[in-house]
Amino acid sequence: MEKRINVTKVFLPPLAEYNEYLEIIWRNQWLTNRGELVLKLEEKLKKYLNVNNILVTNNGTIPIQIALKNVAKGGEVITTPFSFVATTSAIVWESCTPVFVDIDPDHLTIDENRIEEAITEKTTAILATHVFGNPCNVKIIEKVAKKYQIKVIYDAAHCFGVEYDNKSVFEYGDISTCSFHSTKLFHTGEGGAIFCKDSELMKELNYSHNFGYTETNDISGVGINAKISELQAAMGLSVLHYIDYIIAERKKIVDFYNKSLDFNKIKSVKIRENTKWNYSYYPVIFNSEKILLKVQQKLAEQNIVPRRYFYPSLNTINYIKCNKMPVSEAISEKILCLPLYVGLEMKDLEKIVNLINRYSE
Ligand SMILES: *Cc1c(COP(=O)(O)O)cnc(C)c1O
Repeated sequence: MEKRINVTKVFLPPLAEYNEYLEIIWRNQWLTNRGELVLKLEEKLKKYLNVNNILVTNNGTIPIQIALKNVAKGGEVITTPFSFVATTSAIVWESCTPVFVDIDPDHLTIDENRIEEAITEKTTAILATHVFGNPCNVKIIEKVAKKYQIKVIYDAAHCFGVEYDNKSVFEYGDISTCSFHSTKLFHTGEGGAIFCKDSELMKELNYSHNFGYTETNDISGVGINAKISELQAAMGLSVLHYIDYIIAERKKIVDFYNKSLDFNKIKSVKIRENTKWNYSYYPVIFNSEKILLKVQQKLAEQNIVPRRYFYPSLNTINYIKCNKMPVSEAISEKILCLPLYVGLEMKDLEKIVNLINRYSE
């Protein structure tokens, strides 16, 4: 197969290490319903991430839906147009109404200063994305939410390991969710998690993720199946063993891009102050979509395939009716995420940087 450089490449642990976990599964004869490996993964993640509560799930989308079901309850949900489509589709899927608020052009997170004007009597929650692992302005958002007594959910799909103000970013808001999809920084093949400081609410979320069943096998309410299997937990445990290495390798690539790209021609995204970032994505913003398309073409000729994260702006998708979001729409058209993964070679990085510097004007 011809070598192709994509925006990301899955990290696979040594097969022998995965096999050791499979042997535990075979010994236990237990594949799902919160088995030994799922519990072990949750324990390890709790320590690694330094969070109070975690529930590991089968992907990163259903946790958003579970969060909305529990706290947004069919109301209007203030949200960002600049995210992966799952942020918006989860709102619509849960029969809530998405109300978009444009983004801050530097950080690309929801513009915290415009949230208040979008609140109505029907608003029940804010669902904002810490896009590319860059935290939203959580302090201002918390203030607004308190004032209007609405809940805050963060789609923190990109935030594995991110800290803000010396605290896991998952600890902000009422509920945070993460994705452990194989394209993400930490993965379980498919998987995800819910974080919630309030142990009572966490209990409800836990019931929801298992058909509504409580500890005593009563049914507390409408539930769904968001359980993760032992096989996925085995992958997670094997990958987690390498997480510091994964982050360190990605940092080297980010440092190389930072020092080699010509920022007179392109713009980078500003990481919010007081953030310990995780090097999850490397987005660059060109001066126009025309330039982006030219660069994309030149890279494609060398079998280098970055991704247009995130395009299009979510307020423009076909099942949404919404006003224009000028900042998000403009940025969506000219932003590209560059290849970033463990094992990306220096000679390929140099090729990428040279092509971008040459064609981005
Ligand atoms: C990946 C992603 C999701 C969905 O996660 P899955 O694990 O693929 O279901 C949700 N939101 C954002 C911002 C994402 O990038």
